[in-house]
Amino acid sequence: KVRVRYAPSPTGFLHIGNAQSALFNYLFARHFDGTMVLRIEDTDTKRNVEDGEASQRENLHWLGIDWDEGPNKPNPKYAPYRQSERNKEGIYHKYIQELLDKGIAYKDYSTEEELAEMRERQKANNEPPHYDGRWYGKSEEEQKAAEAKGLKPTIRFHFPKNHDYEWDDIARGHVSFNSDNLGGDFIIEKSDGMPTYNFAVVVDDHTMDITHVLRGADHISNTPKQIAIYEALGWDHPTFCHIPLIFNPKTRKKLSKRDKDTLQFISEYKKHGYLHEAIFNFIAFLGWSPVGEREIYSKEELIKVYDPKRMSKAPAYFDQKKLDWMNAQYIKSMSVDELADRTMQLVKEGETEEAKRLQSIPEDQLTELLKKTIKVHQRDVNKLLEVIQYAWSYYTVLDQSFNYDLLKDNEDFANEDVLAVLKGLKAKLENGGEDLDYSQAIKEVGKDTGIKGRGLYFPLNLAFTGSTSAPQIYEIMDIYSRDTDVELLDRMIK
Ligand code: GLU
Repeated sequence: KVRVRYAPSPTGFLHIGNAQSALFNYLFARHFDGTMVLRIEDTDTKRNVEDGEASQRENLHWLGIDWDEGPNKPNPKYAPYRQSERNKEGIYHKYIQELLDKGIAYKDYSTEEELAEMRERQKANNEPPHYDGRWYGKSEEEQKAAEAKGLKPTIRFHFPKNHDYEWDDIARGHVSFNSDNLGGDFIIEKSDGMPTYNFAVVVDDHTMDITHVLRGADHISNTPKQIAIYEALGWDHPTFCHIPLIFNPKTRKKLSKRDKDTLQFISEYKKHGYLHEAIFNFIAFLGWSPVGEREIYSKEELIKVYDPKRMSKAPAYFDQKKLDWMNAQYIKSMSVDELADRTMQLVKEGETEEAKRLQSIPEDQLTELLKKTIKVHQRDVNKLLEVIQYAWSYYTVLDQSFNYDLLKDNEDFANEDVLAVLKGLKAKLENGGEDLDYSQAIKEVGKDTGIKGRGLYFPLNLAFTGSTSAPQIYEIMDIYSRDTDVELLDRMIK
């Protein structure tokens, strides 16, 4: 029975790279009808941020990723799910002790200064950095003497010489590392008594019966260390799948939180009005693809067609244009009401200045405004933040000043013609009833004046939007009140 886990460290908010790991674990679990576990790897207490865990959970939830076991859904057989709590229960220490007893682990009383000096010397000799094993096999007297000086030891794992650690990786195929090239004996327990990531992850994956470990390819060099621990404790290791890293196409390097030109946190996508369906779909294609050319897949369809054998080995390039395109496809496929609900949600959350501004509009009026704005722009926006921006510009149209000279100085448009169109429409608006059809009214103005095409539409576009190119001007007229429409025409007539 498949058991997989997503194991974030609450050291930051949900990054697209974390989301990618979570998502592939989720697809794997759901496709194989297995169990998805959420485990919180919070042993690096200095790096934990407040709300890190809550924010991970909230953003996973928004993405549509849920789990069957975790801090909020404990299975008594495997709980607790936070490493800090597991550590308190002595789960790790028990196995550390076992390795100490077996002589595979040992105490290292080196000081920071000694270790720094060792690294310096290796650098000067052009050697790769490695721990030289100086405390391996030291006598009890030497340890006691160090204790007496008040030194606190770390505990290191001792590698056998020239030993190969190999595994068949779902994404990368056969992978092999030699124990002599792994940086020397590594720390499994820090001097504060906390296990290191490499140790805790092995104990947890084993004791939680994890069958498959899917995680970022940045962990590949950790895997041989973990396999060494599995071997030392006499355990089988799970099947590994190292998910391709996400690369920035500009730097051709791993996407970095310092790359300021790309949105990277799930909360940012959310507040810019990307739809969770689109983000889910987009991330599923970062490092994986189904058979065929099709790119739009719902979560349910992805669960069905997910095939881990199709995980790629090559880095996944983050393609902002594709994300925008995909989001636009989802926007086009949704109902106006649904989009209005989601946009309203963004306004209420007020996470952007643009969204916050709209909070001043009474809710009924705002709902109407959003629906009408969406009707006009559903086919041309990439994200809901653009709807919010358009809605505000329509709402405040009378506060804006338009440059009417755009047409006045243009030889293609005779002043009398422009005026005839504006005045003609103004008369229709003033004389028409409640149910006046704006599209029809414009057509009639065209007939009455004999002015067609650009001659008819450019002046109206300019009057109502400040730009000579605008989509469906009659729909925009319908966003404004009749009085506003008349006033906008008047302003240009004057
Ligand atoms: N806590 C680790 C991380 O956030 C998990 C790596 C793993 O899945 O083993 O990178």
